[in-house]
Amino acid sequence: MASPALRADLGRIVGDEHVLDPVPRELLQDATESRGLTGRALAAVRPADAEQVAAVVRWAARTGTALVPRGGGTGFSGGAVPGAAPDDPDAVVLATDRLTRGASIRPEDWSATFPAGTVTADLQRRCLEAGLFFAPNPGSAESSLIGGNVATNAGGPRSFKHGPVRAWVSGVEAVLGDGERVRLGGAHQFPMLRVRRWPA
Ligand SMILES: Cc1cc2nc3c(=O)[nH]c(=O)nc-3n(C[C@H](O)[C@H](O)[C@H](O)COP(=O)(O)OP(=O)(O)OC[C@H]3O[C@@H](n4cnc5c(N)ncnc54)[C@H](O)[C@@H]3O)c2cc1C
Repeated sequence: MASPALRADLGRIVGDEHVLDPVPRELLQDATESRGLTGRALAAVRPADAEQVAAVVRWAARTGTALVPRGGGTGFSGGAVPGAAPDDPDAVVLATDRLTRGASIRPEDWSATFPAGTVTADLQRRCLEAGLFFAPNPGSAESSLIGGNVATNAGGPRSFKHGPVRAWVSGVEAVLGDGERVRLGGAHQFPMLRVRRWPA
């Protein structure tokens, strides 16, 4: 349960309706739920864009509050489960499902940029529609998000031939622990993803 001050701080950043307290049970679990793992959290926040993510991270750094990023919650290792261990600190869940604005697909240079909250299967479909191919195909693609795929370097059957997500990412925009936004790698356009013409 969050304090009124914490709720107010986060509400000023993301809007009160996007601060979830109490935290819905589904945001306290991932695929390890089948093994009985459920966490605990002070609150969950659902930022709408990178600037709000950076502001939440700056707030967490200033207040010394733990943050647990969350994609689609399909991970099998409890990474998205806040407070999974009894001695874990109380945390705020940073849900990335609203980070869906600003995708761009550039068939002419075989690249695309997708925000972290894009569902993996939607990304694959949109690339195919543009005549491009994104190989990693985790079995969870209809539920996992590309941000979670990048964080876990997800694979899938096609990755035996074409490599996991790491092999397909040429650059990222990221928020560091102090809230600084950085762009790493990539060409002049900082493409998030390398895609290939399809069919080859
Ligand atoms: C049915 C099923 C099939 C699967 N098949 C495969 C498979 O074929 N190959 C494979 O590799 N995996 C597979 N997985 C595992 C899982 O789907 C992958 O690990 C996937 O990449 C997790 O993505 P997610 O969005 O659900 O991340 P989550 O489970 O929400 O998070 C995973 C980790 O990434 C962190 N994270 C999430 N988003 C971000 C972000 N934007 N920034 C920073 N950190 C972040 C979380 O804190 C957590 O530590 C499968 C899972 C299921 C349930």
